[in-house]
Amino acid sequence: DTTDLPQMTDTALDLLHRIFGHGAFRGEQAEIVEHVAGGGDALVLMPTGGGKSLCYQIPALLRDGVAIVVSPLIALMQDQVEALRQVGVRAAFLNSTLGGEEAAAVEQRLLRGELDLLYVAPERLLTGRFLSLLERAKLGLFAIDEAHCVSQWGHDFRPEYRQLTVLHERWPDVPRIALTATADAPTRREIVERLGLEDARQFVSSFDRPNIRYTVVPKDGAGTRALLDFLARHPGQSGIVYAMSRKRVESVAEQLCKAGMKALPYHAGMDASIRATNQRRFLQEDGIVMVATIAFGMGIDKPDVRFVAHVDLPKSIEGYYQETGRAGRDGDASEAWLSYGLGDVVSLRQMIEQGEAGEERKLLELRKLDSLLGFCETTGCRRQALLRWFGEEHAGACGNCDNCISPPQSWDGTEAARKALSAIYRTGQRFGVGHLVDVLRGAKTEKVQQFRHDQLAVFGVGADLDDRQWRSVFRQLVAGGHVDIDVEHFGALRLTEASRPVLKGEATLRFRTEPKTVSRGRGSRRT
Ligand code: ADP
Ligand code: ZN
Repeated sequence: DTTDLPQMTDTALDLLHRIFGHGAFRGEQAEIVEHVAGGGDALVLMPTGGGKSLCYQIPALLRDGVAIVVSPLIALMQDQVEALRQVGVRAAFLNSTLGGEEAAAVEQRLLRGELDLLYVAPERLLTGRFLSLLERAKLGLFAIDEAHCVSQWGHDFRPEYRQLTVLHERWPDVPRIALTATADAPTRREIVERLGLEDARQFVSSFDRPNIRYTVVPKDGAGTRALLDFLARHPGQSGIVYAMSRKRVESVAEQLCKAGMKALPYHAGMDASIRATNQRRFLQEDGIVMVATIAFGMGIDKPDVRFVAHVDLPKSIEGYYQETGRAGRDGDASEAWLSYGLGDVVSLRQMIEQGEAGEERKLLELRKLDSLLGFCETTGCRRQALLRWFGEEHAGACGNCDNCISPPQSWDGTEAARKALSAIYRTGQRFGVGHLVDVLRGAKTEKVQQFRHDQLAVFGVGADLDDRQWRSVFRQLVAGGHVDIDVEHFGALRLTEASRPVLKGEATLRFRTEPKTVSRGRGSRRT
């Protein structure tokens, strides 16, 4: 049946209506399609759900020859090809899931000019055999999806992506379109440089997701009580709760189930078939709360995810943006909620510093974590802070983040900071926040007595603030770079260069006042 196949006279808009069933182009899609169909190179930065696929699918249909789509995600490739076939587009993929015969059949169709789009994994594309196959085919376009994989700065680095310049070298007349949803400035620069896209036109969409409400709260204890309060605002709705480790995923999922919710765990350590079942249930049933590590979510296209909660600190602002971006794809009001404590910062620092990565990479990750802390502790508009990270100006006062809805009060924390810093100093820079708070508040714990910290001048000087307030002070000192975490010594806090002016009374500090929460007794002290 060839009635659905595009004719040479088709316009982009015809194809949009007839093949894809959409009434109008969105945002910059029309301009991108026109530019690429006309043979121009393009770099497209568009948030997840923005509609990147059409930006190369329609030019693929408009141009003579086949479009080669480089994609690193096998599952996504298959979904897209399936969807295209259903609307009559001649699409196929080549990846490791195909048997020899199936692959050979696809190759034959490629050579006979019977394909409009061919999706292929980068490692396959770069084989000498495949490249020489391409020499014998008629090529219309190269689309490089998830182009940020070329960047070492990002979190999905794929070394093969760096070799994709070969496409331009061998086929200089075939236009290229690179697409990504990761748009921070360093990544963008690296994509341009590594893929040789200096002359490509850049299409940068706004990354704002106005229907998502951002909230950041300090952790209480293990953070699940605050989570339960949050989830109570979303009864029967679908959402994702991200946790830092597999163990955390399991324990949080269990607690949510106990609280009567339909919660399912998902992490890379689980049996693949159970994982697949849980994913399918999340997509098909209403009101499932998926408790997951970041292994979950890539390529999940569920429009009505009403909330994304982080019960632990994510690794970076990009990660946070990507993960929260899975909420509210349908445009309806949705929430991004994050709870974090200093314990998370300690764990993440440990993961980074004790990880396999090289020194340079580690420093980079630590810097990213610091930026995220800055975001968490900001008293300004969260949306503005988030978008600034992506190089986008936003006027602030968005009216749809915690700080805009109830502007945080701030207080002069200079004196408290000085007490906190001298507690760190006097105890030898060897202790974590729990013990330091005990010293400041004058708690005669076993540990305090063992180290004779009740003899120190700082002992009990901070009785005016409660446990929660002191933790907030320490968190903000860390976020502001006035205190550092010593990962080698189990997360002991220590002074930095920036501590000195505060200790000497040469600098003043203001801290955000924590919103009052209903006290429900003391939680775990291990935050
Ligand atoms: P991305 O790859 O940027 O995450 P997709 O290409 O998967 O986004 O598109 C996201 C969703 O938006 C899809 O369900 C797609 O059908 C829909 N979509 C894309 N463009 C349009 C449009 N012009 N009009 C209506 N829906 C669109
Ligand atoms: Zn705001």
